Amino acid sequence: MSYVQNVLEQAIKRNPGEVEFHQAVKEVLDSLEPVLVQRPEYEKAGILERIVEPERQILFRVPWVDDQGNVQINRGFRVQFNSAIGPYKGGIRFHPSVYLGIIKFLGFEQIFKNSLTGLPIGGGKGGSDFDPKGKSDGEVMRFCQSFMNELYRYIGADTDVPAGDIGVGGREVGYMFGQYKKLTSLYEGVLTGKGLTYGGSLARTEATGYGLVYIMEEALKTKGKSFDGATVVISGSGNVAIYATQKAQQLDAKVVALSDSNGFVYDKDGIKLATVKRLKEVERKRIREYVKEHPTAEYHEGCQGIWTIPCDIALPCATQNELDGEAAKTLVKNGCFAVGEGANMPSTPEAANELLASKIIYVPAKAANAGGVACSALEMSQNSMRYSWTFEEVDAKLKNIMIGIYNNINAAAKEFGMEGNLVAGANIAGFLKVADTMMAQGI
Ligand code: GLU
Repeated sequence: MSYVQNVLEQAIKRNPGEVEFHQAVKEVLDSLEPVLVQRPEYEKAGILERIVEPERQILFRVPWVDDQGNVQINRGFRVQFNSAIGPYKGGIRFHPSVYLGIIKFLGFEQIFKNSLTGLPIGGGKGGSDFDPKGKSDGEVMRFCQSFMNELYRYIGADTDVPAGDIGVGGREVGYMFGQYKKLTSLYEGVLTGKGLTYGGSLARTEATGYGLVYIMEEALKTKGKSFDGATVVISGSGNVAIYATQKAQQLDAKVVALSDSNGFVYDKDGIKLATVKRLKEVERKRIREYVKEHPTAEYHEGCQGIWTIPCDIALPCATQNELDGEAAKTLVKNGCFAVGEGANMPSTPEAANELLASKIIYVPAKAANAGGVACSALEMSQNSMRYSWTFEEVDAKLKNIMIGIYNNINAAAKEFGMEGNLVAGANIAGFLKVADTMMAQGI
């Protein structure tokens, strides 16, 4: 058995039941076979064994009082995965599906994604099995404060800088920042995705969605294609999906579908984004409400049907494993020529294989959704300088970063004999920087 496969087997054994983590580790390690052949020094230094083991994992109790006066208990997590190239950086996810395996898969992905941005940020992730859906503002605030009552001792502007993810947006970051400040008396850039009046960066809200479209634009250009006039299907209706839709529409694409965890809307005339933004960002309602205001659009229960809508470009922006092998086959059969992953690991391994085999443009999550964390790193820079850039300045930097990532992953795939395979390219390019840094810093 090769060194790489041996490490994979050991990682699976040491982390029983953490299926999403196993999936993420396998996907990266499989890509690294040709690298380890060329760089045997990594094996001697145990780089792979070290990179699959988090530097630190923190689990804690989060007690809070609901509006009825009942005490509720959730579990909190922060996995500080790898700090070779910078302070741990990665979001916090609040969702009932969260357990250690989910946070570890996300933290592991974050190492390579953050490396690809070219900025000095290590990999980490956190979260809780708390379900913000249906909770009052007061309940969300009390939960966030309790979460921070434990987390604050492990984070800091130069050690670990959390941000948002599913279920954690500007409101939650604000409550957590407020509590951190109260507990530590520090007014520092300990979280990103902050409000603009207390150290947030312009364009951070838009960054993941915009970045996704920027990198896809670059990838499409190489094949003589563009967003102009293209039909686009986007899953999800959170922050990533909304701003991917906005940027795609600015580039004259027609976005015909969006979804949430209950179902999807299909608007053949093009999604009216102002409605979605109000429903989701202000009223916090379900996507099915869209058809009440736009009766010519259709609403369908269930999430898989969205991939049967014929489109040129598909952008899965909802959650992990939302696109399976069948769905990938259907997309390709219906003429889809590009898939860009806005969510983290949205394609199952079967779907990823289908997309790679079909030779369509396929930009994996680590590269495609790196715009969010890249802009978070720009927020950290601005906080360090106690200064802020204009929207245009941040947006221009973001675009350059995304173009740089595309060129980097494309070149890495070519260098290791897998031209056009951007999955391998992203894994290899992301890995090399971290591995070389770990070598330089010793054991
Ligand atoms: N949660 C986002 C991600 O998956 C952003 C993380 C951050 O800004 O730190 O990359």
